[in-house]
Amino acid sequence: MKKVIFIGSVSYSGSTLLDMMLANDPHGFSCGEVQALFQPWRPHHLQPSCGCGDSTCTLWQNVRRAGKHRLYHTLFSHFPEVNFIVDSSKNSTWIHEQTVRLQHQNMDVQHVLIWKTPLDSAASFQKRNRLALWEKHWINYHRSYFTSIDHWISISYRELIHDSTRFAQLCHQLDIPYFEGKHRYWEKTHHTLFGNTSAKIHLYAPQTATYETAKVELTQHTHPAQMAHQQIYYPDIHDRALVEFVRRAQNRNPRFSDIIRVLQHPQPVPLSHLAPLRFSRGEMVARQVKQALFRTLFRLRHPLS
Ligand SMILES: [Zn+2]
Repeated sequence: MKKVIFIGSVSYSGSTLLDMMLANDPHGFSCGEVQALFQPWRPHHLQPSCGCGDSTCTLWQNVRRAGKHRLYHTLFSHFPEVNFIVDSSKNSTWIHEQTVRLQHQNMDVQHVLIWKTPLDSAASFQKRNRLALWEKHWINYHRSYFTSIDHWISISYRELIHDSTRFAQLCHQLDIPYFEGKHRYWEKTHHTLFGNTSAKIHLYAPQTATYETAKVELTQHTHPAQMAHQQIYYPDIHDRALVEFVRRAQNRNPRFSDIIRVLQHPQPVPLSHLAPLRFSRGEMVARQVKQALFRTLFRLRHPLS
């Protein structure tokens, strides 16, 4: 049976990396953040450049033309050898809507939630000058995911990087093939859309225009020592001010430890852990209306697209 695997995560938590690692298989396909193709909210979403690096690749224009409701079917018919698609759009409302639609069509659907510890996540937000947004994002993304999605497999970013047996186990849980070296996702061409540049740069050969463009974008927030080509590297955090900042946030806000308890709990997570974290129906609707309004305003500001 054909299947779609949805990856959820807070921003900058390794979803693009995991997407390409899972799809590194002759029968896998990495979508990246495909929601933005149909519901753009940033200027670069309007001119999607394909992850394969070939400026003449028209895959995503064809997929967009076929329409949102036929998205995965279009990809499966375009690539008959593909048995499973990985979608790392992350947005929990998108995941929920696509899941319901696919299940009505008798398609197999699975959910993976990749997460970073509060400190690792705060460091990723700080690198992009977005630390002020971090606490709200980290808490609210998880609450929204726990409200919208029923069953998922969680994996921490550190486990993914440091423990190859955990990645093998994840493939087994998802019932997709695992092989030695599967983490070297750059050995396959991916058409991954949008997503994290520090994960995608490994797809491109040094000195090519695509590689150089990605490198310029990365050097704005990444130390050159962390940019070794085709090596997955994750540093420990030694910034004492940041460690203290995160420690204070965690002491002040008990939701951090409640969420970590859910993330570390094997499925199914008891309702006693989940219920206090879930948004009410009204809160969820308010979040969805806010997101839809944001996208509508964006479309109004970019009427020619
Ligand atoms: Zn392509």
